[in-house]
Order: sequence, then structure tokens, then C-alpha cells
Amino acid sequence: MIILVINAGSSSLKFQLYQMTDESVLAKGKVERIGMESAILTYEPEGKQDIREVREILEHTTAIRRVLDMLVHPEFGVLQSAAQIEAVGHRVVHGGESFSSSVRVNEEVKREIKRLFDLAPLHNPAHMLGIQAVEANMPNTPQAVVFDTAFHQTMPETSYLYPIPMVLYKKHKIRRYGFHGMSHAYVSERAASFLGRPLSELKLVTCHIGNGASCAAVLHGQSLDTSMGLTPLEGLMMGTRSGDIDPAIVPFTMGKEDLTLSEVNSMLNKHSGLMAISGISSDMREITQAMEAGDRNATLAFKMYEYRLRKYIGAYAAAMNGIDAIVFTAGVGENSAVLRDAVCRNLTFLGLELDEAANMRRDGGERVITKPGSRVQALVIPTNEELVIARDTHRLIFKSNHVE
Ligand code: ADP
Repeated sequence: MIILVINAGSSSLKFQLYQMTDESVLAKGKVERIGMESAILTYEPEGKQDIREVREILEHTTAIRRVLDMLVHPEFGVLQSAAQIEAVGHRVVHGGESFSSSVRVNEEVKREIKRLFDLAPLHNPAHMLGIQAVEANMPNTPQAVVFDTAFHQTMPETSYLYPIPMVLYKKHKIRRYGFHGMSHAYVSERAASFLGRPLSELKLVTCHIGNGASCAAVLHGQSLDTSMGLTPLEGLMMGTRSGDIDPAIVPFTMGKEDLTLSEVNSMLNKHSGLMAISGISSDMREITQAMEAGDRNATLAFKMYEYRLRKYIGAYAAAMNGIDAIVFTAGVGENSAVLRDAVCRNLTFLGLELDEAANMRRDGGERVITKPGSRVQALVIPTNEELVIARDTHRLIFKSNHVE
């Protein structure tokens, strides 16, 4: 079965084509600057030459058509016909309280995703454009949606409610939802399998730290708590997002700086985090380089980032009354040995003994970075959200075909 995985943004669309018999990627790529005359299509077919094309692509339907054209291209294509694609899986950021697992797309599911536009105004409308664009180009191909929030729907009230008037939850569903769920679920399973222990017996803290970053307390395979909240702004310090701050900073800054609510919102989402403190970059590579060159602000940004992450790990160890392992994943988690070193070095009280050489090794795969016998283990597990989408889509469409 061949499955196309789509992650549609408002002006971009990323795709990966999977052969599910061996879970290999046949091709991947992205369309950027959708809506402009100079949209960019990047296409990377397995074993063939990569292509970069600049052309007018004004909406998502055209973007999908161009992707399909590439996939069946006589020279660069990897398929004979688009009909070989048996299902399409989409990433959807917000599933609210309606979705605690992935689902096959039907009219009711689409209505529900639209109802959730309010909760993810930047993301869900774009995902809907992706779903409609696939419908327009491939009307007979079944589609599934996989949610960033679904894994965290197991959180108890004590984790997901905010201590604010209950009416806000009842009327507007203001609560913690959490994000990066596919990644937290995937690395938890991989960590258990790597450690050779049942997930149902493990207490894990998973740290998905990329441009966006979140931690999760995964107790016996279920999300007990996570650092992102109603939106992906809460929790850890990130590339350009503040993470946790005193909410009173919002009205205070609006008054002092004569800013509008939307300006403060943009400040917290786009002009805070590593970028704001370092004044250099939101990219951990550049922060680390500048720090090594002795830059004071980059060093401060790094230290704050590490400190805030370590506090969350400590909080989740308390939340679960202990932990068995910490898992690092995503761009920073997988690649920044310096960050992992700084975090783990200060967790010896938990019984975590870092293996410095193992931590420095750059083999890119799944690995343990603590010493043999370390009471709490630390692992690096590369995440693969696209594969989670492909697998869920495969399971949903394949299973439902058999049931029907
Ligand atoms: P996204 O959240 O956009 O999916 P990624 O998970 O790809 O992001 O993470 C991107 C971030 O990973 C970059 O901004 C960069 O800070 C960090 N990163 C990537 N490679 C390295 C590296 N070798 N060392 C340190 N940080 C890295």
C-alpha cells in the first residue's frame, strides 16, 4: 500500500510518499510560498535527481496537482499513476476534546475540524485546505487525519485544567491540550522497545525540542502531563517563543509600551525565546557557536533554555513519583550534545549518570547516553512524525476496508 503524507500550512505544504510494505520513503518534498507567483516546489525522489522549481502556485489545490505531476513524471517520478496512492494521511494540529486518536476523514470529521478553527486559527484552516485540495485532485482516495493533541487526551483534569474560572472551560474549552503528541507517543514506544521493557511499566519524560519545544510526563504509556497548553506557546523556552511567563506581563507591557494585544501576542510567539535573549538567532547551532566564541548573551540564552528544560524534567519526576528514563528528540534534542550534557550533568540527584563519550557520538541513531547501571537512563531517539501519520493512515484505511 502506498500512502501520501501531507502537512499543510497556510502557505506551505510538506509531503512524503511511503511504501508501507517496508515503510520506505519513495519521495518527499515541499511547496513553499503558496499564493505567490514565485512559489517554490522542492522534490526529492528516492534514488533520482532532486528538483527545485519556481513557478506560480496560487492555492493548495494547484500545489497538490504539481506534487502529483512530479510523482508520476516520466523521468523523475516514482509512480506510474496517481491512482497507486491508496490513501492520504494529514497532520492536523488541533483535535480539541473531540479526537483522542486518528480518524478517517468524512463529512462529520471535517465539520468538527472546522469547529476547532477557533482553537488553532493558524493551523487548522490550513490543514482543511490540504484535505480539500486532495479531495479535488483525488476524489476517490480515502484520507485520514492524525492529531498533534490526541496523545495528550489521556491527561487527568488535575493536569489539563487551569486554575481560572470553570466557566471558561465549560463555555470555551479553555484547558491544556498539549502538542507534538505523535512525537511523544512515537519516542516513548521506541524508548521502551530499545530498553527492552514494557511501555506499560515505564515512567518517561520525553523532551521534544526543536524550533517548538515541549516535554511530556508519559506514565505507563499514557500522557500524564505536558508543557504546552491551550496553544503551543506555554512551557519550555523555545527558538522564538517565550514559554512560561507571568501572565500579568501581557497587560503590563501593553500599558508601558503602548502595544496592542496582537502585538504582544506576536512578541511572545515570534520575538522571544532564544532569539530575544541572545539577540543573535533562534537556532541552537548558532547559539552554541556564539557561546563557544564567548558571546555573553548567547551563553545566557543557552543557560536559560537548559535551566527551564531541567526544571520541567524535575517537575515531571515529581508528578510521576520517579522516572525511569529521559528521552531527547527533535532538532535540538537529537543533535545538541552540549545541551544534553548540560541537562544531564545536573540531574545526578535522580541517579542519572551521563556517559560523556556516548553523548558526544554522532551516529544519528537511537542510543542510550547514560552509563551502564545508571538508575535513570537518558536516550536519544530520532522522532518520525511522518511515519506515525503513515502508519495510522495505513491502519485506519486498511482495517476499515476489511471491516466493510
Ligand atoms: P521543527 O520544530 O521546525 O520541526 P526541528 O525539530 O527540525 O524543528 O529543530 C530545528 C532546530 O534544531 C533548529 O532550529 C536548530 O536550533 C536545532 N538543530 C538542528 N541541528 C542542530 C545541531 N547540529 N546542533 C544544535 N542544534 C541543532
